[in-house]
Amino acid sequence: MALQPEIEKALNDQITAEFASSYAYLGMAAFLEAESLPGMAQWMRTQSQEEWTHGMKIYQFVLDRDGRVALGELGAAATEYESPLAVFEAAAAHERKITGLINDLYAKATEARDFASLPLLDWFVAEQVEEEAAVNQIVDDLRRAGGEGHTILMLDREMAARTTVPAEPGA
Ligand code: MG
Repeated sequence: MALQPEIEKALNDQITAEFASSYAYLGMAAFLEAESLPGMAQWMRTQSQEEWTHGMKIYQFVLDRDGRVALGELGAAATEYESPLAVFEAAAAHERKITGLINDLYAKATEARDFASLPLLDWFVAEQVEEEAAVNQIVDDLRRAGGEGHTILMLDREMAARTTVPAEPGA
């Protein structure tokens, strides 16, 4: 079944939102690296790459459904923050917003009886649970550290371990 225009538009809006997430996280990574926190910067670069794969997943889906891809504007991404904690708080708020967008998209697809979109959206619903949990854990860790240098350094070293970019969609 061909994509209905309102579903096609909603999917295209989500592609843009995922690429905008990627761009936002790239800005956060630049700040963290400039603050001499290479592990956190590495974590955020990986996060940025992951968001790019999310955008591509929906991009490919629209094409597979014989839809037309439309790419919206991304806008500027911040590269200055008050502190590392402020970065991860902003990332957590951003992920909550993305979860809301995915939920709206899910409701639209269900209402339009576009059942072919639901397995894709189920994947995104589950992914958002993981995204929010991961970033909330970092916020909690940084709050607990309370600006204490040794603990922040330890966290930074730990976060350097994240280098895996998930497989490309369809791989
Ligand atoms: Mg995403």
